[in-house]
Amino acid sequence: MLKDTPKHQGKRNQLIKILEQKGITDKKVLEAIKNIPRHLFMDSTFEDHAYQDKAFPIGAGQTISQPFTVAFQTQLLQIQPNDKVLEIGTGSGYQCALLVALNAKIYSIERQLELFKKTNLFLPKIGLKPKKLIFGDGYKGLPAEAPFDSIIVTAGAPFIPKPLMGQLKIGGRLVIPVGNDPQIMTLLVRKGPKEFEKTTFGEFRFVPMLENKN
Ligand code: SAH
Repeated sequence: MLKDTPKHQGKRNQLIKILEQKGITDKKVLEAIKNIPRHLFMDSTFEDHAYQDKAFPIGAGQTISQPFTVAFQTQLLQIQPNDKVLEIGTGSGYQCALLVALNAKIYSIERQLELFKKTNLFLPKIGLKPKKLIFGDGYKGLPAEAPFDSIIVTAGAPFIPKPLMGQLKIGGRLVIPVGNDPQIMTLLVRKGPKEFEKTTFGEFRFVPMLENKN
């Protein structure tokens, strides 16, 4: 079932070209996208959609983010090998797998039990194992493992949760889409204990970041 073929690889090469045309320049990010079989993160019935540059439903009312969005957010993180990274919104695990492929130590939180269980079983099967997947509420971050070199939020946040800012190392980067449909992609770099530098990168569309877990 978990099959990758030259046909899939060919489609990924096409996708890489599209991402480059849309402005993704980070070679390591492009290489990782080239190596990860995105079709395996989706129901096999929808395999034809896997290498189009669009988001797709993954069950529980959630979506796997558009490849461009995943590439854009990952590029903003500027991952260095062995970085300790927190992801909010594990979903299908695709973004998480990409960070594993970039040699980050990744902790990822998902609030939907169904998705948490599914992805927790799936990622080890394709050999891209995060440090830990957590069933919980991403608004709280992960104090037990803080501080992090970077934090990525993959759901639309109505505001920037304070705990996430507090769990960044000095010099650390938080990449988060902020607002209600659409969201503004936002980068916060922690310059000091209480100083953050904010940069914004235009509109994106995400499913909403919800509180608690279910
Ligand atoms: N990174 C995922 C994108 C999934 S969509 C991927 O590559 O497939 C966003 C995910 O965020 C959904 O799975 C949703 O359930 C989850 N989510 C929403 N609010 C959350 C919260 N407060 N804490 C953790 N996860 C949350």
